[in-house]
Amino acid sequence: MNRTVVDLLAGNADHAQSFGSRFDDVQDGQHPDAVTVCCSDSRVLQDHIWDNDTPGHLFSCGNIGNRVVQRTDEGEVVSGDVLYPLAHTGTRTAIVVGHTGCGAVTATYQSLTDGLSEPPGIEHCIDLLGPHLEPGVERLPDDLDTEGAVNHLVEYNVDQQVECLLDSDDVPDDTDVVGVVYDFQDVYGGARGEVHVINVDGERDVETLRDEHSTVAHRIDRLWSY
Ligand SMILES: [Zn+2]
Repeated sequence: MNRTVVDLLAGNADHAQSFGSRFDDVQDGQHPDAVTVCCSDSRVLQDHIWDNDTPGHLFSCGNIGNRVVQRTDEGEVVSGDVLYPLAHTGTRTAIVVGHTGCGAVTATYQSLTDGLSEPPGIEHCIDLLGPHLEPGVERLPDDLDTEGAVNHLVEYNVDQQVECLLDSDDVPDDTDVVGVVYDFQDVYGGARGEVHVINVDGERDVETLRDEHSTVAHRIDRLWSY
């Protein structure tokens, strides 16, 4: 067996030993407090970023570019991966997690500006992001290098995914939808690994958000007001 798999199985044995009793209360079902949709990037450990090690607490889905949408014969809809806990487990908090330096946002930016050739499966994912990011690309400030442009678009993408959830008839109206950016590259100036709240239920004005959510005012910040 290849070394990586052997090491992973050893890690899983440790996991099973420490987690055994934590499943006692969730043997027969789940009622997660929140659904999170995060980029699959290996540097962003979805449960770890919330310090979560409680089975049943978070319904976590991941894909490149933290998309909440998929394309069906009916057109673009909220992806079943995100919708499932909202429709079936009473979950009423949804959190979209973008991250600094996102490769999927970078690829979409390149695709919209220079063109890009990727295998069809990756192109499909980039194509789902493209229409949502295109207006953002057009509004980018002129003085940004590529890295800066991508980090601005990371915020724009989170805003767009939040809007898709808010606009969908499939998402219950009383769902709280929050957008955050995870920073491990010192872009926001906080500690590496902190998430920065950039959007709550579609509101993205930092001062308004800080007034409305004073208990977490120090966690609210964004790079780009547009
Ligand atoms: Zn990413």
